[in-house]
Amino acid sequence: MSEACVELDAIGGNVELIARHTDAEIMAVVKANGFAHGSVQTARAAVAHGATWLGVTSCAEALALRRAGLTVPVLCWLTAPGQDFGEVIAAGVDLAVSSVPHLRAVAAEADRLGTRAMVHLKADTGLSRNGATPEDWPELVAAARRRERAGTLRVRGVWSHLAHADQPAHPGVGDQVRRFERLVGQARSAGLDPDLVHLANSAAALAHPETHYGLVRAGIAIYGVEPVLGRTFGLRPAMTLRARVVLAKRVAADTGVSYGHRYTTTDQATLALVPLGYADGVPRSASTLGAVWLNGERRPIAGSIAMDQFVVDAGHAHVEIGDEVVVFGPGDLGEPTVLDWARWSGTIPHEILTGIGDRVPRSYLRTAATTVGGRDRG
Ligand SMILES: *Cc1c(COP(=O)(O)O)cnc(C)c1O
Repeated sequence: MSEACVELDAIGGNVELIARHTDAEIMAVVKANGFAHGSVQTARAAVAHGATWLGVTSCAEALALRRAGLTVPVLCWLTAPGQDFGEVIAAGVDLAVSSVPHLRAVAAEADRLGTRAMVHLKADTGLSRNGATPEDWPELVAAARRRERAGTLRVRGVWSHLAHADQPAHPGVGDQVRRFERLVGQARSAGLDPDLVHLANSAAALAHPETHYGLVRAGIAIYGVEPVLGRTFGLRPAMTLRARVVLAKRVAADTGVSYGHRYTTTDQATLALVPLGYADGVPRSASTLGAVWLNGERRPIAGSIAMDQFVVDAGHAHVEIGDEVVVFGPGDLGEPTVLDWARWSGTIPHEILTGIGDRVPRSYLRTAATTVGGRDRG
């Protein structure tokens, strides 16, 4: 009745496109179940097309990749002291560390296992989110060096994250680069010798070459959404969200539609019922603003999007039960894109994609051929 179809060749092509913009290695960021595309499927496609690292937030996400047989380096960047690091360290997953207590916990676990943990020390260069501040950095670096000497860990990476990469020519990017280089210099002076220094996300990978160093961390771009405001690099959206009409009916002019009657038909109309709602990730905030692709035309959403379903005003068009509705896709035929949905609901494409719920079955398409808008009627 509904599905999120993921074009794996689009993900592969997007990785290749990023590679044409950088000499750095590419980390495919597959957190949040691969931005809802499926982390394992996305990771396999990205690695097959040149990604050499995978990035996730949680230990569970990292272990799922290992269990699926992915052997490339994985960085896991949102953990805290008190968590059990045993399994991820044993699975050869690199851990990001932002504080001395965190470092101590990771080193203690590695010591207990009789192995060496691979860590990436994170500096806060201006995002003020995760990472050690420049004031706390010397102590973190010194503590890491002591544990390297003791053999309980190795500092494989030093890294940070940008606040303004999506805005071309924002001066904040240069400020963060300068701060980052000073902190990397301090780490080297303290005796650390990281294999990798990394700073760039998708937007920076495409628009800020001075941030590339040895590795770029690409999330949204590998899923095909343009990350830089006002610029188009030719990425291809990988996911198409579609459903089948479950009911079509003719109603009179002045018919109020859906909860609160926030929409009223202006003329006689065909209303088509679509079995997707905000519980599936179709944002309620796009009610009355959003549109879908139905039988070759964009048609407006009539009134409130409900938890499980919404109504489309198809005007005078003929609609039958079973007709295909494309909520978003690559935009080849004029269907809305994830960017359109982000605009309608006042958010960013990341939130639209990661909101697509588990109730929507995923399917995977290997060829670049697209069937968006295909209408099968005997
Ligand atoms: C999510 C995330 C990324 C990927 O960001 P995009 O803008 O989607 O490319 C990179 N680095 C970190 C630390 C992240 O949390």
